[in-house]
Order: sequence, then C-alpha cells, then structure tokens
Amino acid sequence: MVKQRTVAKEISTTGIGLHSGTKVQVTFRPAPADTGIIYTRTDLNPPVIMKCDADSVRDTQLCTALVNAEGVRISTVEHLTAALSAFGIDNLFVDVNAPELPVLDGSSQPFIYLFESVGTVELDAPKRFFRVLRKVRVEDKEKWAELNPCDDGFKLDLTIDFNHPAMEKELQHFSFDFSGRGFASELSRARTFCFMRDVEYMHAHNLALGGSLENAVVLDDYRVVNPDGLRYPNEFVKHKMLDAVGDLYMEGHSILGAFSAYKTGHTLNNRLLHALLSDSKNYEVVTLSSREQENAGIDFIGSNVMHFAKA
Ligand SMILES: [Zn+2]
Repeated sequence: MVKQRTVAKEISTTGIGLHSGTKVQVTFRPAPADTGIIYTRTDLNPPVIMKCDADSVRDTQLCTALVNAEGVRISTVEHLTAALSAFGIDNLFVDVNAPELPVLDGSSQPFIYLFESVGTVELDAPKRFFRVLRKVRVEDKEKWAELNPCDDGFKLDLTIDFNHPAMEKELQHFSFDFSGRGFASELSRARTFCFMRDVEYMHAHNLALGGSLENAVVLDDYRVVNPDGLRYPNEFVKHKMLDAVGDLYMEGHSILGAFSAYKTGHTLNNRLLHALLSDSKNYEVVTLSSREQENAGIDFIGSNVMHFAKA
C-alpha cells in the first residue's frame, strides 16, 4: 500500500518575502495522518490556522495565496506546494510569521533541498489520489486547461505563447511524465519570470518590494537581464508547469490523469481543480497498492522506512 507521508522532523528556513521585502521565517513540522497541509500565521495573536485546499486559493497579481473567510492571507504558497507533491507529503504543519512565505530563489528547488535534507517518513494510513474519470475542461478566451483520464500516472503537457526574442517558439512547449525525481531534476529549478515593464509598474505601486534578480528571471524587450542567464533553455514553460503542479496539489492529493493546457496560469489551474471536484462523476478518490504504484510509474522522492509515531 502506498502510504501518506510527512517530514521526518522539524526544519526551518528564512528568506525575503516577495511582497514586503522583509525577512520571513517558515517552520515545517511533522503532522499525523489525515491532517492535510495546515498553515499557521504565528505573527497574529491569537495565531490563525488555515487548511490548504482548493477553496482557500486566491490568485493574486503575483502569486497564489490562501485566504480564509476572515480575509487572513498567506501568499506565495505555490512553489512549496509543488515541492510537497514531489515528495508525496500530504500531511504537514507550516508555521509562518508573516502574510507570505519566503520567495527564496523563485523556484521550488530550495524546498526540495530542505525536505531532502530532513527526510520524510511514511504514516500508517493509505495515500489518497484523485483519479480522473472523464474529461474536465476550463477556458478563458484563447487560454484553456484540461484533465483527461489516462492509464498510468500523472502526465503534463503545456504550451505558452510569448512573442519575445528571448523565447523561441520550440522552447514554449513541454511534456512531462510526473515523478518526484523527475520533478526535482527537470522542473524544480525553473524560476518565476517577469518583464521589466511589470517590475517598473510594481515598484511604482509599492508591490513586490522583495522582487529582485535573486528570485526571478527578468526580461527586457530583447533579452534575459539576469547576468547568469537561464537555468534551462525552456525555463519559462517549465516554470508554468511547476506552477500547475503546485496549483493542482492544493488539496494535498496527487492526480492520476493527463493535464494539458495552453497559456494557463494560477487562476485557470485553480478553476480546473474546482471543476474536477465539482462533480463526483469526474473523479474518484483511490488508494494504490505498491504494485499499482509501480505499474503507474509513480514515484516520490525517497522516504525512510521508520514510521512516524502517533502523537
Ligand atoms: Zn510560480
């Protein structure tokens, strides 16, 4: 049986918040089975606890945020969520002392490093997957995203369409068979990108005060401004795919199905997850035997064999 997971022990990191530009601390703590991903805003008195799910997601100008009924928010969660999916971590306490997670380098890689160094443990409960049973599609003008049933695992196919000298057409499409290791090597290092004109607008409006070449790829009208260039030749489409992986993992359950999209973003990805969950004919919640997992070609970044003791 494929089991639920959490981190092996507590670990913290600090970094700059994208919105505020100030230092933010985040601590990850092990959580028991069937907890889900639980965020706590430790800077509020009393602390506010928020469960990560599709309903709490709001797209903002810059990132994905979780917002509760009282309007309390935690921004920039999508790159963490994508990393969690690669480890198959479905239970975790995330304590943060600000309205946002640290942006780190604008990719999922620092989270991959963090969870690899601390390790994960299996919990004594079956892992739940969303298996897509029929086609679900959402559109916004020419943009679209869909999920289709597929025989094995989680497949992604994404196309972006930017008319920019630094983005060659053939580098704007990417297909990927999801696996934890594959995510770490192929997608996790792809950074957020933005255009110089957006940076100027944001700074003029006091937004993204923490944004810099340390945490984003910036393009002017002709080229990539970052002195070290790109991490992958197709870093842009890969980052959009990383975002989609994170956006589709907001419920903490891996997808068994085929995702394909054209010019998608956080809003459309979240609408797609909602559309999937809106009708019980669209999907089923399944558990997998180890054999089924192997046949489906699903793997997560390693876990040790010790079991997390029940609190
Ligand atoms: Zn992103």
